[in-house]
Amino acid sequence: MENGMGAQKAHRGHCLILPYPLQGHVNPVLQFSKRLQFKGVRITIAATISFFNRIKDATSLFPLGMISDGFDEGGANQAESIEAYLKKFQQVGSETLGELLEKLRDSGSPVDCVVYDAVLPWALDVAKKNGVSGAAFFTQSCAVDNIYYHVYKGIVKVPVEETRIAIPGLPDLEPADLPSFVTKPETYPAVVEMIRNQFIDIDTADWVLFNTFYKLEEEVIDWMKGLWPVRPIGPTVPSMYLDKRVQDDTDYGLNVFKPMAEACTKWLEGKASKSVVYVSFGSLASLDAEGMAELAWGLKMTGKYFLWVVRASEESKLPKDFINETSEKGLIVSWCPQLEVLADKSIGCFVTHCGWNSTLEALSLGVPMVGMPQWTDQPTNAKYVTDVWKMGVKAEPDEKGIVTKEEIENCIRQVMEGERGEEITRNAKKWVELTRDAVDEGGTSDKNIDEFVSKLVSP
Ligand code: UDP
Repeated sequence: MENGMGAQKAHRGHCLILPYPLQGHVNPVLQFSKRLQFKGVRITIAATISFFNRIKDATSLFPLGMISDGFDEGGANQAESIEAYLKKFQQVGSETLGELLEKLRDSGSPVDCVVYDAVLPWALDVAKKNGVSGAAFFTQSCAVDNIYYHVYKGIVKVPVEETRIAIPGLPDLEPADLPSFVTKPETYPAVVEMIRNQFIDIDTADWVLFNTFYKLEEEVIDWMKGLWPVRPIGPTVPSMYLDKRVQDDTDYGLNVFKPMAEACTKWLEGKASKSVVYVSFGSLASLDAEGMAELAWGLKMTGKYFLWVVRASEESKLPKDFINETSEKGLIVSWCPQLEVLADKSIGCFVTHCGWNSTLEALSLGVPMVGMPQWTDQPTNAKYVTDVWKMGVKAEPDEKGIVTKEEIENCIRQVMEGERGEEITRNAKKWVELTRDAVDEGGTSDKNIDEFVSKLVSP
C-alpha cells in the first residue's frame, strides 16, 4: 500500500492521463496515476491502439480510453520516421483525444484535467477546447528541461560552441555535460523539434509537474517556479520499494516478463550485502561491440558478482566465451524487475546509462552509480550524479570514445571500496532519507500532489 494512502478516498475529480508510449515515459506517469488514484482521483489512461495491445495483459490497474496515433498496428515502429510519427500523432491524436473527452462527458464521467506528457503539447489545446484544465508532465529532470527551455528561447544556440555554459539554477556545464540533442542536434532533428515544442504553449498550462523532488533540484526548481506553476511530485518510485519491502501485487508498466523476474531474484538470494554489480542501459541505449566487450571484461576484472541486462537485440555483441568464462560470477538476462533488483540488499553498485528513471530509482534506494551516459539527457544526469549529488562516478571514455575495461574496473572499485566508496555510501543514506521525506505524507512532493488534487474540482 502507498504511504498514507491505504484506504481509497471519496471521488475527488477525474484525470485523463496521456503518456507518450515509450517505457521510460510510461512508467513514471502510471506510477503518478496510482498515487492520484489512492488520493481519490478517478483515472482514465488515454492509450493509443498499438500501445494498448502491448500493455493490455500487463496492467488492469486503470480503465483505458482508446485514442489513435494513426499507426494502429505498430505505433512508432510502423512510421517511416520519427518526424512522420509525431506529425501523424498530433493530427490523429488531437482528433481522437477530443472524441474521448466527449465520450467520457456524455457517459456521465466528465474529465476535470488532462495530464499529458510534455512532449505532446497539442493535448493542452484539446483540453482547453473542451473546457478542461491541462497539466504538463515532464518525465526528465528540471535541470535538463531548463537547458531545453534555454534552447527553445534561443539563449543556448545549438549546436553549442561555448566551452562553458551558464544556465540559471544549474552548475556551470561543459559541452560533454549537455544532452546530446543540444550538442549534436543533427542526429535526430525531429526529436530536437519535439523537445523545443514542449514549451510552445506551456505558459497556458494550469500545472507543470516534474518527476523530481524539491531537495534534489532546489535551485533550478526555484528558478523555474518564477515562470510557471511548477510542482515537483516525485520521485514516482512506489513507496514499498523505498521501504525495501519488495514485491508489489500490481504491475505498473510494461513489465510482463515474470519468469525472468523470478530468475533474477532467485539468483540474488543469499549473496552478501552490497556485493553485486547491477548493469543496465535501459530500454533504448546501446553500446557498440567494442564498448560492450570492454564492459564485459571490465566486469570480469573486478572479480565481483554481476547481474547484467542485455536486451535480446544486443546479445550478439557480447564477446565469445564471456558467458562461459563468467558463469560462476554473472547472470545475464534480457530484462529484469529493476526496482526489485535495486531494492535488494545484495546490490552494491549500478552501472547505468543514467536514464532519468534509473537515476531516480538508484538515488531513492541508495545504490551508488557508475555513470556511462550514451545520449539524450543522460550526460547531464551523470554530471549531477557525480558532482552535485555525489552518488557515484562517471566512467570517462578514452580519446577514441571508448570506455576501457580498466576504467570500468577502476570506477566500480571506487564506488564499492575505499574512501570514495565510503563517502558515496554516506551520501546515499542522506538521499534515501530525503526521498522518503519528500514522498511521505506531508512531504514536499506529497503536499504538491494534495494541492493538485484539491484544485481539480471547483468548489
Ligand atoms: N527497466 C526495468 N527492467 C529492465 C530495464 C529497465 O524495469 O530490465 C525500467 C527501469 O526500472 C526504468 C525504466 O525501465 O523505470 C527505464 O527508464 P530510464 O529513464 O532509466 O531509461 P530509458 O529506457 O528511458 O532510456
